Amino acid sequence: MERETLDFDVVFVGAGPANLSGAFHLNRLIKAHNDAVANGQKAGPALGDIEIAVIEKGSTVGAHILSGAVMDPRALRELMPDFEEQGAPLESPVKEDFFLYLTAKQAIRSPITPPPLKNHGYYIVSLNRLTAWLGEKCEEAGVNIFPEFPGAELLFDDSDRVVGVRTGDKGIDKDGKKKANYEPGVDLRAKVTVLGEGPRGSLTKKLIERLGLDEGKERQVYSIGVKELWELPDDRYPVGRVTHTLGFPSDTQTYGGGWIYGMQNRILNIGYVTGLDYRDPLLDPHAEFQRYKTHPYIAKLLEGGKMIRYGAKTVAIGGYFAMPRTFADGVLITGDSAGLLNSQRLKGIHSAIKSGMLAAESIFQALLDQDFSATQLKGYEQSLQDSWIVPELRKVRNFHAGFKRGRWLGIVNAGLQFFTGGRAWGIFDHEKAQAGHLEMKKLSAYGYRGDRLEQRYDGLKFDGKLTFNKVTDVYHAAVGHDEDQPAHLHVLDTNICATRCAEEYANPCQRFCPAAVYEMVDEGGTGKKRLQINFSNCVHCKTCDIMDPYQIINWVTPEGGGGPDYKGM
Ligand SMILES: Cc1cc2nc3c(=O)[nH]c(=O)nc-3n(C[C@H](O)[C@H](O)[C@H](O)COP(=O)(O)OP(=O)(O)OC[C@H]3O[C@@H](n4cnc5c(N)ncnc54)[C@H](O)[C@@H]3O)c2cc1C
Repeated sequence: MERETLDFDVVFVGAGPANLSGAFHLNRLIKAHNDAVANGQKAGPALGDIEIAVIEKGSTVGAHILSGAVMDPRALRELMPDFEEQGAPLESPVKEDFFLYLTAKQAIRSPITPPPLKNHGYYIVSLNRLTAWLGEKCEEAGVNIFPEFPGAELLFDDSDRVVGVRTGDKGIDKDGKKKANYEPGVDLRAKVTVLGEGPRGSLTKKLIERLGLDEGKERQVYSIGVKELWELPDDRYPVGRVTHTLGFPSDTQTYGGGWIYGMQNRILNIGYVTGLDYRDPLLDPHAEFQRYKTHPYIAKLLEGGKMIRYGAKTVAIGGYFAMPRTFADGVLITGDSAGLLNSQRLKGIHSAIKSGMLAAESIFQALLDQDFSATQLKGYEQSLQDSWIVPELRKVRNFHAGFKRGRWLGIVNAGLQFFTGGRAWGIFDHEKAQAGHLEMKKLSAYGYRGDRLEQRYDGLKFDGKLTFNKVTDVYHAAVGHDEDQPAHLHVLDTNICATRCAEEYANPCQRFCPAAVYEMVDEGGTGKKRLQINFSNCVHCKTCDIMDPYQIINWVTPEGGGGPDYKGM
């Protein structure tokens, strides 16, 4: 088969805040250099036309971007000091911070907001909109952006040097045969490839495994955030108010918390984060969120409102100890793919933007030196250490580990860390975190009999007004995938599903997936069950790849353009 090859200097995989900032900054550095050489202000040769491309699997830039989000503007200000004048879509400056502890019936407002949850000087944003705007800024500056182009495979040379990326084929039917509209993916060859795929990037995961980039590091751990936007009938929740909650509905052994942000036009942004290192095999992050909304305080807030959008996405929360090596020959890793999110503040937009800028500076130097080896690109990792990113992560390095001993000790540990600059002793000391799926207990070890969900979610009903089942919610994520294509969720051994997994965990994929992708169905009157994969529902959150207890689910990119459309999220 003939495959087209296109040559670029730099290819950014993923059009998120990290890579768009990187492409924008690199383009600007090159232009400034070339102008300075042309004006005689700088010695040395100009760099000439440097070809930069950004590829994105979503149908548009921002389509797959879901976040909270309260943004610390520190990095955006460094990237573009006049971002407000340039029309950055900001919902509102944060005007007030509330911190609530929820018991089953009460909402108790803390008289003080814990320092990490103070958001004065920050902005509430729709990261979907902000990312789309960053994409426009890149295009105005002359950067090529290619939506609907998933990076399907990294290209390596004989010495394991990354030399580009192959995009996904189009027009393959569900049996693997070519359709009339078949188009093979293109080989985009590049001197440097930058992986900014967000949490649990599919290419990043393979690269880390292949080159051992996590050697001596901890396993990354994740959370999942499930979110809805609601249209309220009145101004009961002011724009600019930020509320964070702890407590209900999580049990004390499960890491989790909620958020409520006031956006423009009476839109309430509400969501719930659950740690993907939970122990209860019957836990369902989507059900946790639905239950969250039944709390009297929240139900009252939503009364008479209308749910208009839904989505879910994972967050890498391992932090300082779980950061992989971020460079190798011909490749750099940015943003959430590099594990740069501060889990204590649940903030990663600022570090993603900054990491993109630092990657751009290292690539610029590499272009000047015409050296794209790991030895040269190592400067990027050093610059992460020297910038404010790694010091910020160091200060909260033991935050998540503290919650392994339950909510209360986790809070005490978080408080102590504030005074010790991240150091922890004794029972709070950092332990080697194991991958989150290993924390899940078997049904019998948890004391469950059978798989009746009511054992955890007694009384939770989906009424279609306040609470929604997954299928209804997925409809509000505007997900679209051509159904006549191979499933992009590769389950390596489906025999386990109806046997071992059913007995040991009651098929937790049916619960941890927030989009009803996995379903155990009866096999035509035989009394046996088999796994059905409703891949067209997939919201690209990657939870299945992370949380499957046997690690036999591989999330790969579907045909370009497929997936959610997270407008306004
Ligand atoms: C529920 C939730 C709440 C959050 N709240 C906040 C908050 O309040 N404040 C804050 O600062 N941060 C918050 N974050 C974190 C923040 O959203 C991330 O840190 C930030 O988005 C990371 O940016 P990124 O560019 O690294 O990755 P992403 O934003 O994930 O972007 C990655 C892009 O790459 C694309 N992509 C992935 N793989 C491929 C591929 N193989 N080929 C082509 N394209 C690909 C994706 O479609 C996506 O567009 C939150 C995150 C979540 C999930």
